[in-house]
Amino acid sequence: MKRVVLKPGRERSLLRRHPWIYSGAVASGDAGRGETVEVVSSTGETLGFGSFSPDSQIRVRMLSFGAASAPGEAYVASLVADAVKRRERRLAEGGTAACRLVHAEGDGLPGVVADWYAGWVVCQFTSAGAERWKRTVVDALAAALPGLKGVAERSDVEVRAREGLPVGGFSILSGGEPPDLVEISEGGCRYLVDVRHGHKTGFYLDQRLARAAVGAIAAGREVLNCFSYTGGFGIAAMRGGAASVVNVDASADALALASRNAALNECEKGMSFEEGDVFKYLRKCRDMGRSFDMIVLDPPKFAESKAQVMKAARGYKDINLLAMKLLRKGGVLATFSCSGAMTPELFQTILAEAAADARRDFAIVERTFQAEDHPASLAFPDGLYLKGYILAVR
Ligand code: SAH
Repeated sequence: MKRVVLKPGRERSLLRRHPWIYSGAVASGDAGRGETVEVVSSTGETLGFGSFSPDSQIRVRMLSFGAASAPGEAYVASLVADAVKRRERRLAEGGTAACRLVHAEGDGLPGVVADWYAGWVVCQFTSAGAERWKRTVVDALAAALPGLKGVAERSDVEVRAREGLPVGGFSILSGGEPPDLVEISEGGCRYLVDVRHGHKTGFYLDQRLARAAVGAIAAGREVLNCFSYTGGFGIAAMRGGAASVVNVDASADALALASRNAALNECEKGMSFEEGDVFKYLRKCRDMGRSFDMIVLDPPKFAESKAQVMKAARGYKDINLLAMKLLRKGGVLATFSCSGAMTPELFQTILAEAAADARRDFAIVERTFQAEDHPASLAFPDGLYLKGYILAVR
């Protein structure tokens, strides 16, 4: 087996089980794309085994720590089986249940994402190592999931290019062809998921707890759902008794599906859809003197890396400040950041600054994180990428 030797002192993060080794930490060692390598310290101590990415800044992603034997097919299959077992309760709901089955580093499988949509699995393989283990992962999923109808892959993610992997489209890896739209259910709401063309694998499963939290306090409110995508928060709010929801998104396709979802949940009365840029829409509302009882802000990732955090901070402050000014007395802001590089502390500071500029006093009513089927390791804080604040105007 090929060896990757680290520079002196660079074993420290690995000893704390951080799963990534950057190219700058490597003293020597080369291997093929996705090949399993032994990682050793500058003094020759075996630190563990990982997958080599010759094209990426993240040169090695760890699969196992310590000096035990190199991880093989059986080990990778056992990680998949363990991950599925942790979702047993959700899967036991059967029918149209949906959840994430494998959450990359959070389940010990860097680069591997697999989502369950009512019997259909949609995967993404975003690192060289993940690509190398694809067959093993798919076979292990098939073995662990008795009700499985088929496994598909979405390889249309740009990060694959950084790993030297082809960026493609939708393909079937095992079993049958899913329908164009797969119906799932969540918290009493029904959603159609476009597994071929939708964002990520089709649905933002990570916001399940936040949608439930919003639904629980929506009764009687006039809601503005910004960055609505296919209507997730809006439908949860309507089902929770909201008086009305305006959904705003830049994507006409997302809004078309949001409208179908509204009909599916018999809440099209009261739901409206605005195609456009949220930054502009909020300003328009301000200029027109419009106000709301609840505003949801669930924007896409503004910061891809630590270097972009300051620029992202301005974007977050801008939309939060605008939204805070549009809220009526007693109103609620449900605001989120899914940038891993943006820490919860920094996000909260930005919110505090926005509130100060808006000259309004907010109480933190609830904090939300990604749902438990998107586990984050304590050793890998970047894995806790999604955070939310539910704030009430006082
Ligand atoms: N809240 C959604 C997920 C939001 S994903 C859910 O629960 O399912 C982010 C959405 O923001 C995407 O649908 C994308 O089309 C939209 N978007 C990105 N930039 C935008 C902008 N400047 N204005 C409006 N929508 C935008």
